[in-house]
Amino acid sequence: MKIGFFGVGNMGGPMAANLAAAGHDVTAFDPVPALREAAEESGVHTTDTPADALAGAEVVISMLPSAAAVTGLYLGDDGILPRIQPDALIIDCSTIDAATSRRVAEAAAESGLAMIDAPVSGGVGGARAGTLTFICGGSEDAVERARPILDAMGKNVFRAGPPGAGQVAKICNNMLLAVHMIGTAEALQMGADHGLDPKVLSEIMRVSSGGNWSLEVYNPWPGVMPNVPASNNYDGGFGVNLMNKDLGLALEAALATRSATPMGALARSLYASHANQGYGNKDFSSILALFKRKDD
Ligand code: NAD
Repeated sequence: MKIGFFGVGNMGGPMAANLAAAGHDVTAFDPVPALREAAEESGVHTTDTPADALAGAEVVISMLPSAAAVTGLYLGDDGILPRIQPDALIIDCSTIDAATSRRVAEAAAESGLAMIDAPVSGGVGGARAGTLTFICGGSEDAVERARPILDAMGKNVFRAGPPGAGQVAKICNNMLLAVHMIGTAEALQMGADHGLDPKVLSEIMRVSSGGNWSLEVYNPWPGVMPNVPASNNYDGGFGVNLMNKDLGLALEAALATRSATPMGALARSLYASHANQGYGNKDFSSILALFKRKDD
């Protein structure tokens, strides 16, 4: 397939490389020249104008930082929507609010173009390894058309519902992730405050009713598990700033439907405060620091 790819940053770079490695003809645009050079080295063609990435493109993929960037790319003054060929499929993999996803998909539909939102779970490691989970919103037909392309970048493809539903499912997941990470951190700290070994406590809770992903796969206590950010000074992984972005999106989504999300709201405040203490670029499991005692 001939693919135009927009945004080759931390996630988009390895995703575009995996598409090229699978035999697709990928042309990428990113405003940052160094990222275009890195993409070239991974087998992706690049261009310094967005229009050139669209030439002959049967599929257009975007992986951008924000709703403003997505709106600007497709609908802005010099937006690409009018220049995309009529039978092309648009796949936006950015994590943004569902309302913006729906708005851009509606504009695409008015131009006769199929568009899906396909935010991902799995982080930079999953993007590199080609093991991402894609959580899609769009028509069944459009998601089926996207599936073979997404398979080259990930191992799971879900359809959550119509346009915007992928974004809603993704932020529901990340809100729950924030909540169980905070709960895991406070439980481990309380055990340690009572003299328990966090490794032993983790083993007990893992096979008991408190078991959860943060405890079992991504333990926040340094040294309990190898190869997790907690055992690497909380470097790498999923940053507090990105978690804050997703919790902000969850809050917006809750406001839009007047949903009660007290745990999500508290998680948002705790993570905002954590970022304000200088942890913005650390992994989100560093929230354990919130419960550490200064007298230890
Ligand atoms: P990033 O900032 O590294 O990459 C985004 C890229 O988009 C940048 O290189 C930027 O120059 C480029 N860009 C901005 N406007 C553009 C435009 N008009 N045309 C082309 N390129 C443009 O961000 P990232 O970490 O790759 O994240 C991308 C998206 O994936 C975000 O929405 C993020 O929430 C989501 N996400 C990230 C992770 C993660 O662990 N990094 C995990 C899951 C989801």
